Parts: sequence; structure tokens; C-alpha cells
Amino acid sequence: MTDRTALFRDVMAALSLGERPASWINGSLRDGAGDEIELIDPYLNAPFTTYRDASAALAAEAAEAAAKSQAIWWRDYSHHDRGQIMQAIARAVQEKAETLAQLEALSAGKPIRDCGVEVAKVVEMFAYYAGWADKTHGEVIPVPSGHLVYTLREPIGVVFQITPWNAPVFTAGWQIAPAIAAGNGVVIKPSELTPITTVALAMIAETAGLPKGLVNVLAGLGPTAGTAAIEHPNVGKVIFVGSPATGRRVAASAGAALKETVLELGGKSANIVFADADLSAAAKGAQAAIFAGAGQSCVAGSRLLVQREIVDQFRERVADGMARLSLGDPLDEATEIGPVGNRAQASRIDAMLAEAGAGGARLTAGSAPETGLFIAPTIISDLKADAPAANEEIFGPVVTLIPFDDEAEAIEIANRGVFGLAGAVWTTDVGRAHRIAANVRAGTFWINSYKTIHVSAPFGGSGASGYGRSSGLEGLAAYSRPKAVWVETADPPRTPFGYDGPSG
Ligand code: NAD
Repeated sequence: MTDRTALFRDVMAALSLGERPASWINGSLRDGAGDEIELIDPYLNAPFTTYRDASAALAAEAAEAAAKSQAIWWRDYSHHDRGQIMQAIARAVQEKAETLAQLEALSAGKPIRDCGVEVAKVVEMFAYYAGWADKTHGEVIPVPSGHLVYTLREPIGVVFQITPWNAPVFTAGWQIAPAIAAGNGVVIKPSELTPITTVALAMIAETAGLPKGLVNVLAGLGPTAGTAAIEHPNVGKVIFVGSPATGRRVAASAGAALKETVLELGGKSANIVFADADLSAAAKGAQAAIFAGAGQSCVAGSRLLVQREIVDQFRERVADGMARLSLGDPLDEATEIGPVGNRAQASRIDAMLAEAGAGGARLTAGSAPETGLFIAPTIISDLKADAPAANEEIFGPVVTLIPFDDEAEAIEIANRGVFGLAGAVWTTDVGRAHRIAANVRAGTFWINSYKTIHVSAPFGGSGASGYGRSSGLEGLAAYSRPKAVWVETADPPRTPFGYDGPSG
């Protein structure tokens, strides 16, 4: 087995990250002064390093550094130059891709093959938004007065981003790239469980030409560093990626200060399979939908809706594939499914599975290594409709199988509950595919596919899955505000007191 301590030391050194996790504030690695935080290697279920919470003091320094860097440098860079620097960041991340992926696999417990794909997506995100940096502009509005009215798209100033543990470097790139393309300074707080690759990304970006202090990373806890950053007067907007429960708290704190929020939250997505589908493709899709990333994906297809006449044969197909999945060391290229990311999450899934079993449901489980935070891939059938596993996000390699009779029932079941993030349908009936896509509540929907996403397409949810959009032009627009500029052109002015003017 790989000497994980030596590898951790080597990748930290290769990325100039020091010996243990730290925050990245105004171009320097900084130890926090808050509580000590212990990180667990999920593969061994054993501690591997510790660091100190950034706490409120570093949050204030980060917000000040971001505001200064944005105001004295970045705001005045030409849009062309911003794009060029972002292209350089994309190339720099590409050069460090292998090391970054190793660090992510070690610290987050994700299979190295998934980490490689996610780092490649970060490269894509910087390159994509680099392209938009000098291609977004305002409009001229034909108002019914003598004015020339044009709009400017202005950066917000400093944005605060909060990200989860299940895709640390991916979610960091996802939010940092559009924020800086639109001209903002950034404070980002990754999960306290997985801060290191976000720090590495910010450092690489600065080495590639980003002004010092423009992107700052808080390694620390939500209630301390996170709350302080939300409340800091320099922060104009909060972008949160995480659970609905924390999202509510974050939105309430930001709302109290009248700050806008984008919330990218969880899901309980329906993957709907009709009897007329290509069942081989649908079974592979159903496995990828829930077991990839050990089910720790916001868009996981965690509810598998199958037309009643094919339920038994389809369950067997998915179970066959499930039994062949390779679970193991995240650092092994052959590993398809790694451990669950942390102890709290593993206990939560165990509790839900125990409760589902006690409720009379049938479980079909694959095999998992004895050590580490592994949960065997599991299909739950005949689950009672009011069981927590039927309604809450499990966020593990567990799928609930639900039969349906017809199109109307499939839509009704898919729209049950509080989430509205994603979904899919498998069918060869083109009309039905589009009807289902139109009627299921979701921000992303696949037809005869699952889980493909790209930075160019808008992404987000409704209800308990959040609000606002990331990715694409919508994601970029979220990081700026339009300003309308009114220029009087009539001589003499036709409306000296504004359109229609005060009557007296
Ligand atoms: P979480 O809500 O526990 O934590 C998310 C982040 O919030 C972490 O950085 C945490 O430190 C921070 N936080 C906690 N309390 C805070 C507070 N009081 N103030 C400010 N910040 C605070 O979520 P998690 O367990 O890390 O992530 C899993 C969840 O994320 C799942 O629900 C998953 O579906 C969701 N997720 C959503 C998307 C998406 O794009 N919709 C993507 C990935 C994950």
C-alpha cells in the first residue's frame, strides 16, 4: 500500500503548501488562532493532520485584502487582461493537475480517477470564463425620452463563497472562475474537512498572475470564520454550496445584512426508467447516477423510479453491475468507489440503512473493504413512503427503488418532496421524454443520460435545493450587477425633472 504519510508530505511540498493546512490570506499562508481541527483519512479512518481554525480574525483580514486588491488592481485591469490571466491560470492548473488530484484523493478520500476528472473540469472552468471576460457588455435601452440610456455590468466588489467537502477543488474552481471573470475579489471558505486543495488552487492562480490578495481562502469552521465573513461589511454577496440546513442559516445571516445569496443545495433526484427504454444503457446510467462518488453528489439519482412491469428484471441488472464495482483505496487507479468522506456522514448513512431495514425494506448490498469509512452500494426496495431514507438526502451509495405504473404516476412521484435539483428519464418515446422533462421539477434534467454537466450550461435548483444559478452566462451574471446610465441628449432637455416630471 502507498505510504500515505510520505505522499502527503511530498504533495504538500510540491505545491508549496507547508507541512499542515493553513489559510491563504493576502498572498501568504497563515495559521489560524482558533480551535484545533483534526482531519481524518477516510480510507484508513485514522487522523492524518491537524490545523487551527481561521476564526473571525483571519476572516476580517481576508475581506480587507480582497477589497483592496479588487479596488486598486483588478477592477482597473482591462477585460482582455483579465481573460489572459485566467487563461494562464487554466494552464498552470493543468501543469499541476496530477499533484492536485493526488492531494484531493488523499484528503477527501475520493478515487484518484474522479479527482483527475474534477481537476480537468477546473481547468475548463477557468478557460471557459476567461473567454467571457471581454465578451460581456451592457446594452442601449430605447427609452421614450431624449436620453441615451446604456447599462454597465459592474462587479459586486467582494464575494464570499462557502463550499462543501464532497467536491472541494471542483466547487472552488466552479465559483472562483466566474467571480474573478466578472471583476470581483474573493473570500472562499471550503469545508473545514477538506480545505487544502482550495488553498493550492488560490496559490496556483496567484503564481499565474492574479493580483496578490484577490482570492483568499479561509481554512476553518462555519460558525466562526464563515459567520464573520458573511457579516463583514466588505462582503457584498454570499454564494453557498452545501446542505439545506446550513443554507437556511447562511441565507438568514446574509439576509439580515441585506446581502444577496445564491444557494446551491442538496437533492433527492428521480431517475425514471420506462419499460420501452434501452435497459442495458439505463442500468449503467442508474449505477453511475448513484454509485459514482459513493453517492456523495448533489445530483445523485437516489430515487430510481422503474415501470412496474420491469421492476424485478431491472433491479437484477443494476444489482449485477453493482456487485462488479471496484471498491478500495482512493489512490489506486482501478478504484471506482472510495470511502464515504467523513465519520459523521458514515454514521448518518448507517443509521438510515438500519432504520430502512427495520421498516421491512429489502436491501441488496455489494461488498466493501473492512477498513475505512466504506458503505457497501445498496438498493432499497419496498421502502415505506414516510421513511427518512425515502425523503431525505442520504448522500451515500444507496438508491431507493420505487415502482410506477404510468407517465402521470412517474411525474407525481418525481415531484414529491421538497427538492428540485435534477432528474432523468430513460425511454425510446421521444414525445414522452420531452413531456417528462417539462413536468419534473428540476434545474437540470437528462434524457437517456445521467450526471453529465458542463460549465457552459446553467446549474441550480428550487425549493430545498436552493435558488440562483451557477455555470454558464447565468452564473457569470450572478457575479455582477447592471447599472443604468442616463445621458440627456435633447436640446433643450424635454424632461428636466425626469420622465414625466413632478406635476407641481
Ligand atoms: P454543510 O452544509 O454541512 O457545509 C457546507 C459548508 O458550510 C462548509 O464549508 C461548512 O463549513 C459551512 N458552514 C457550516 N455552518 C456554517 C455557518 N453557520 N455559517 C457559514 N458556513 C457554514 O454541507 P456538507 O456536508 O459540507 O456538503 C454536503 C451537502 O452539499 C449536500 O447536501 C450536497 O447535496 C450539497 N452539495 C450541493 C451542491 C450543488 O451544487 N447543489 C454541490 C455539492 C454539494
